Amino acid sequence: MSQTNTAAPSAMTEHSLSAAQQASASRGLLRHDWAKDEIKALFELPFNDLIFKAHTVHRQNFDPNAVQVSTLLSIKTGACPEDCAYCPQSTRYDTGLSVEQLMEVEKVITQAEAAKQAGSTRFCMGAAWRSPKDRDMPAVLAMVKGVKELGLETCMTLGMLKQDQAKALGEAGLDYYNHNLDTSPEYYRDIITTRTYQDRLDTLQQVRDAGINVCAGGIVGMGESSADRVGFLQQLANLPEHPQSVPINQLVRVEGTPLANSDDFDSFDFIRTLAVARIMMPESHVRLSAGREEMNQEMQALAFFVGANSIFYGEKLLTTPNPQANEDMRLFGKLGIHPEVPRAAADRHSPSIEKSADAMEAMSQSGQAVQSLFYDAAAMQAQQ
Ligand code: SF4
Repeated sequence: MSQTNTAAPSAMTEHSLSAAQQASASRGLLRHDWAKDEIKALFELPFNDLIFKAHTVHRQNFDPNAVQVSTLLSIKTGACPEDCAYCPQSTRYDTGLSVEQLMEVEKVITQAEAAKQAGSTRFCMGAAWRSPKDRDMPAVLAMVKGVKELGLETCMTLGMLKQDQAKALGEAGLDYYNHNLDTSPEYYRDIITTRTYQDRLDTLQQVRDAGINVCAGGIVGMGESSADRVGFLQQLANLPEHPQSVPINQLVRVEGTPLANSDDFDSFDFIRTLAVARIMMPESHVRLSAGREEMNQEMQALAFFVGANSIFYGEKLLTTPNPQANEDMRLFGKLGIHPEVPRAAADRHSPSIEKSADAMEAMSQSGQAVQSLFYDAAAMQAQQ
């Protein structure tokens, strides 16, 4: 995210590319003019050629053995008025989900502290809203400030934002805002009818204008065509700035939602989507997101190879299952992967993040990080 949270509001609105992005752009590596034919051609490469190309791009831009680790907390659950066909939190579908009001600020900070102790460097907070109400903003801003003071990167996903809300979040120190495009413009109406694709693009613009880093991706396996996956990645890569974080989710089929009976999604098509995303957005973190529960370790290793370099850990992703934390720990150990120290945001982050990064690096060198990376979310719940 962009904003240096210590920057004056006027400076924060002058959102500019990071030094690394400017360097790559000057070398012609960052493109925003992808044509569908080119993207289709990438998808259609022989598999070995595609994964080699993606891994080469990944290695040029990142430590290939580092994966950014985030923790995600649902701060307000269920009863959402939107009709996203994949989502168990929509009030329109009977999924048996327990509705929970906005959490108290102190409880959120407690959870963030535990996540930090366990080695997470970014704390993401999600609320099932169409958009935040003005009356909710003071609590939300207090959460951002409180988590930030712990030395963690902050991320929120709250639905559509108005200009003043984005600005307030930026001034409070929010590092990332997540708002997914979900799929291609053409397939979008099959998935959501209560807001438009343009609404989503407008929120991303508000976020960029507020100097907040963008986290935007989508979901595959919703019955879309291969042409839709081309169109979806084209939209992301041709934004004025590549999203700093690009979550690629595989549909989690939840009983009660319209997509509950969707067909299985082909594993190779999923890896191809990650690989093409890596090639098109070489400096973005590509996040292996929802759906990991259904992926075996070999598939996750292949995902890391083609450039996925961010995961959520914990036992739940908002309301759907995520791999058990100790399984993630074992997989990291087997693959020789270590948690990424958040240096990438060095030109935008605050001194507290730097301090946290140093601590992380020290842990990593002493081998503590992998052992203490994961915390027991169920135990956390029990403590409350
Ligand atoms: S994805 Fe978000 S906006 Fe859509 S129904 Fe779920 S909580 Fe609401």
